[in-house]
Amino acid sequence: MAPIPGSGLAKGLAVTLRTMTKKTVTEQYPDALPELPPRTRGVIGLFEENCTVCMLCARECPDWCIYIDSHKETVPPAAPGGRERSRNVLDRFAIDFSLCMYCGICIEVCPFDALFWSPEFEYAETDIRELTHERDKLREWMWTVPAPPALDPGAEEPKEIAAARKTAEKLAAAQAEPREDES
Ligand code: SF4
Ligand code: SF4
Repeated sequence: MAPIPGSGLAKGLAVTLRTMTKKTVTEQYPDALPELPPRTRGVIGLFEENCTVCMLCARECPDWCIYIDSHKETVPPAAPGGRERSRNVLDRFAIDFSLCMYCGICIEVCPFDALFWSPEFEYAETDIRELTHERDKLREWMWTVPAPPALDPGAEEPKEIAAARKTAEKLAAAQAEPREDES
């Protein structure tokens, strides 16, 4: 059956009228920042104090876009007569975000909580080579990582916090004890 003349125009006008009454969905970025969920996967932050240079993240990254350099350092024995130890010192930690596919495997596998998702997303570059970000930048992004969610009421204290609290209590008790030369 031949279409009624003008029906296409009427349909088009109906769509226009319907859309005019709806709330606009256009994001006015960069004039207005989008409201993102706090756990948005924007970029990866490095808490380098926790990194032991175990290389697990670099080995597990499917894109091989984590670059780590380190050297070994000898640490004197903790107690007299003890053995010297050696430890890895981080020289370079960089991520090439032109290759990264934001899978989060590096963050999941890090055994020492040194990598975190940050919601920061404004790091576009005009030159792809500038998307390799070094440790200083990754460290800076750590400040944009949201605090972990609160524990459930009655949940067991995390073992790291329990250990730190016990150490702090021991130190406080040792400082409170009167020294022999004061008595
Ligand atoms: S998020 Fe995935 S692709 Fe990106 S650096 Fe981590 S492991 Fe590699
Ligand atoms: S897995 Fe974690 S501790 Fe190991 S090298 Fe990567 S960031 Fe450092």
